[in-house]
Amino acid sequence: MSQSKTIAPNSIEARDIAYQFHPSVDLRVYEEKGGLIIDRGEGIYVFDQSGKRYIEGLAGLWSVAVGFNEKRLADVAYAQMQKLPYYHSFNYKAHGPSVDLAEKLVQISPAHLTKVHFTSSGSEANDLVVKMIWYRSNALGLPEKKKIIGRVKGYHGVTIAAGSVTGIPANHGSFDLPLDRMIHTLTPDYPRDHLDGETEEQFSARMAEALEELILKEGPETIAAMFGEPVMGAGGVIVPPEGYWEAIQAVLRKYDILLVADEVICGFGRTGKMFACETFGITPDVMVTSKQISSSYMPLSAILMSDEFYNPIADESHRLGVFGHGYTASGHPVATAVGLENIKIIEERDLVGNAARLEGQFLAGLKALESHPMALWSRGLGLIGALELKGTEKVGQMGQAAQACLLEEGLIVRAIGDAICLCPPMIITAEQVDEMMAAMKRALDALAETDL
Ligand code: PLP
Repeated sequence: MSQSKTIAPNSIEARDIAYQFHPSVDLRVYEEKGGLIIDRGEGIYVFDQSGKRYIEGLAGLWSVAVGFNEKRLADVAYAQMQKLPYYHSFNYKAHGPSVDLAEKLVQISPAHLTKVHFTSSGSEANDLVVKMIWYRSNALGLPEKKKIIGRVKGYHGVTIAAGSVTGIPANHGSFDLPLDRMIHTLTPDYPRDHLDGETEEQFSARMAEALEELILKEGPETIAAMFGEPVMGAGGVIVPPEGYWEAIQAVLRKYDILLVADEVICGFGRTGKMFACETFGITPDVMVTSKQISSSYMPLSAILMSDEFYNPIADESHRLGVFGHGYTASGHPVATAVGLENIKIIEERDLVGNAARLEGQFLAGLKALESHPMALWSRGLGLIGALELKGTEKVGQMGQAAQACLLEEGLIVRAIGDAICLCPPMIITAEQVDEMMAAMKRALDALAETDL
């Protein structure tokens, strides 16, 4: 939300308010206050219309790995636009860019993931995974096996099925979600929810027990899959405690329940490894990627799957004569060409290594801010982190106020509840990490002076 300001008639702000219905805002507040118009980008920075520079501390929406003016991506898009601006993958057709990217994804992802299906957003991808899971259960003659487990505070998008797997009340309220096939287990938020004296491992075991209880209550034969972000992003950057994924996977294996790793934020280096599945020893049946796959320069998402997941679906499509699903833009040639070039840049510039190398400095910077009178605790992994603030009675009020102070200081972040979430472009340097932390410190000082 922007600061109070006068909005000139016919200005871009005024026309924005007049014509555009924005996502993820209070629409009445937007009508009154408008938004901050971002005009251009350069490296880790974006600039508003007045020329004021901001560090994009959330890489847009956790997504712009290579920064905001990567010419190679613009060049590849232009070349592909000229050669073949559009083609599709329906009806026994294919084109080079989507084949090249599918091959690359299979090469760089965990070895058992062998097939790729393209969509255009994280929500679309997760929604389709739900459909694939249902299709597959029918193919296997298990029509009862349809329920999907998500987690409270988990985020998997906003389409009807993906939005139902999401466990965030704001994404459900008045939308008549979640669908009743979707159920939710606990959030592995150790710092907030651990019992007195409980170790991380004990907490993880308790999370796994809660999952098992839920499965037994619902009937194991009715549960097809669990979705999880290796590190929860939109729920407020929640890093799982020691032993969590191991314990969860053991329960899923016991009841023959598929695991879908939603790597939409974590994928392509964010946690210091190419995929967070490697970071946590997760062996998913399906891995969903988006965002950093193309640095969001073009809308793109990719679903990677194992042979065991793919084969029953392929058999069923053969039985029916078609896999009756696809989008006009599935595997779009410009998007997939940009995605491939983006991954080449991530590799050539060793941005995954950069995230791993800067992790210590980034997390130490957040840790140092814990002693600020406005702060409680910090958390993070690789180049994704959060600082929890001392809130007021109204959850989120402090977070919003902090976000406004940070904007003043030239740092764009996302406040989730009363946590300040950071996920800067992966090209960030050590000096720029310091610059970001200095802006955090100045903003917290200003926040301390604010009357709430
Ligand atoms: N999954 C995760 C983990 C996400 O963080 C997001 C978006 O933030 C999505 C899915 C949905 O992606 P999209 O906004 O592209 O639909």
